[in-house]
Amino acid sequence: MTERNKQTTVDLKNLKVGGFIKERGRDLFTVRLRVPGGRLSVKRLKKIAQVAERYGGEFVHLSVRQSIELVNINFRDFDAVVTELGESGQQVASCGARVRVPVACGGCEYNPNGLMDTQQSSLDVDRQLFGTATGHHKFKVGFSGCPHDCPKAAINDVGFVGIIEPELASAACLGCGLCFETCRELAITEGESRKPVFHGQNCLLCGDCVKVCPAGAWTVRQRGYAVYAGGKWGRKPVVGTLVALFLPGEEVVAFIAEILDWYGAAADGKGRVRLGQVILEKGINAFLNHPRTKFPHYVVTEFGSPTAIDTRLRGNLPGQPLSDSDFR
Ligand code: SF4
Ligand code: SF4
Ligand code: SF4
Repeated sequence: MTERNKQTTVDLKNLKVGGFIKERGRDLFTVRLRVPGGRLSVKRLKKIAQVAERYGGEFVHLSVRQSIELVNINFRDFDAVVTELGESGQQVASCGARVRVPVACGGCEYNPNGLMDTQQSSLDVDRQLFGTATGHHKFKVGFSGCPHDCPKAAINDVGFVGIIEPELASAACLGCGLCFETCRELAITEGESRKPVFHGQNCLLCGDCVKVCPAGAWTVRQRGYAVYAGGKWGRKPVVGTLVALFLPGEEVVAFIAEILDWYGAAADGKGRVRLGQVILEKGINAFLNHPRTKFPHYVVTEFGSPTAIDTRLRGNLPGQPLSDSDFR
């Protein structure tokens, strides 16, 4: 064994679980970094660049879940890579049947659309739940700051979307018309004397009316996250279903913990299954009864189930026309 070999103490058996992913090249691995919410300090980014330059290939890869991946890392350099990254506080991510690093958009700090502090929520989840073994399969969490939903919350095992419920104080209205010209959902129409009429059933909870009103006539009645559960992407995509409304940011970790608790028990003996599949098998009501005990004010009373999307490739080979069943 060479001196370089002797220095490597990383557990080779658990490499992938630990964020070290085997590449095609002999002895080479991709090292996936832990970047909750996709946010990195410039200082840390510089350190990552130094380590990549010293031990990796000619480029790094940005994963679809906001991680930086160092490529072409020789396994003999694992200890040095981990140690040097650690000097800036940078850690390696995990894979496997665990709670993964949460993804998030910029949220409300500087993004004018943001309604909730997604960055704080992703840090909370990362600090308190990252790496928690689910006992069954991977578990992904995502945060969107507003209903534009850029991070596609509903295709995570649990996804969060910032929302606000608007409230109108008609007496303060100046009749400028901005709110009903701005609302894209026809949730506000023009009434007498250019005063707005609110149609709550159409409202998407985006808060645009509150932002645009120059008189402060539209205010925030409540603010929080809409929560979706049971989603995933991949070979057989499933869109998660709405399970809670106006969940406060401070309750996010506890809410996810309740879901993990149910998932762990309900999938017992089922092997490698994602949350959405377990919800479909056990029934959405059986699932919701669990978080409802601790979060009765937030769990929805009207609900659907996670929905499988048929994106099958099979049967659609060249020369074989799509049939009606491919669209069902
Ligand atoms: S989801 Fe909303 S807050 Fe987040 S990036 Fe998109 S528009 Fe901005
Ligand atoms: S919150 Fe958005 S969707 Fe609802 S009324 Fe205001 S602008 Fe329209
Ligand atoms: S934006 Fe405000 S002031 Fe203008 S019509 Fe709407 S409620 Fe009235």
